[in-house]
Amino acid sequence: RFFLETPITAETVEIDGPEAHHLLHVMRAKVGDSVTLFDDSGAQFAAEIIAVGRKSATAKIIERQEVSRELPVSLTIAAALPKGDRQRWLVEKCVELGVTDFLPLETERSVSLKKEKSLDKLRGYVIDASKQCERNRLMRIGATASLPQFWDEAPAAALRLIADPVATEGVSDLLPSEPTDVIIAVGPEGGFSPEEYQAAVAAGWSGFRLGKRILRIETAALAAAAAVAAKYDR
Ligand code: SAM
Repeated sequence: RFFLETPITAETVEIDGPEAHHLLHVMRAKVGDSVTLFDDSGAQFAAEIIAVGRKSATAKIIERQEVSRELPVSLTIAAALPKGDRQRWLVEKCVELGVTDFLPLETERSVSLKKEKSLDKLRGYVIDASKQCERNRLMRIGATASLPQFWDEAPAAALRLIADPVATEGVSDLLPSEPTDVIIAVGPEGGFSPEEYQAAVAAGWSGFRLGKRILRIETAALAAAAAVAAKYDR
């Protein structure tokens, strides 16, 4: 599976950049090989390689296939970013679980991620994970969301949940049986500050707890995303 940035509308398409490197130098594709292409339109395309160069390849589109692997709801994870490899792991698993939007969250106790280069790195992880898990839509990486503004800016039509180790309700207690859009906020290693929790609740967010243990950022985000997916994905 290979991702094309440009929407696939023509009968033949050029594959270049990192995807061409993967196709030509990792998979060692040859003329006549079958590939699947996707372009974030929601569909995937059966195609055949008809020409190869050193840095690009040409593919002929055989068939457009409507294959949706999306959740029936929009699921946003707004999380303070963990460090190093754990960032990649978090983004990759969010893609696999069907999260539709990921927002790096800037809190009192976390560092910000405003550099476009860092966001591009996260977008690269999304493409790799989508190729692996066969999603045809990319999880969007949004701009950094900052507290306390985010508590009011997040759409109130969605169920807005904040991961809080001392909340009394479990996440599945808060999910209605009718599929509903969900936004989940997860705090940094040092946790949300008491003021941040209070402001969230004042803005209409509900706290939930994921068991009695303190989880790392990525574990909390993925446990909550998995609970939503388990409830609504069929
Ligand atoms: N000492 C911090 C605290 O008390 O919040 C621990 C922070 S934890 C490493 C990072 C984030 O994961 C928390 O801010 C919270 O959003 C979420 N989290 C961790 N364990 C949790 C649990 N058992 N239930 C709900 N959320 C949890």
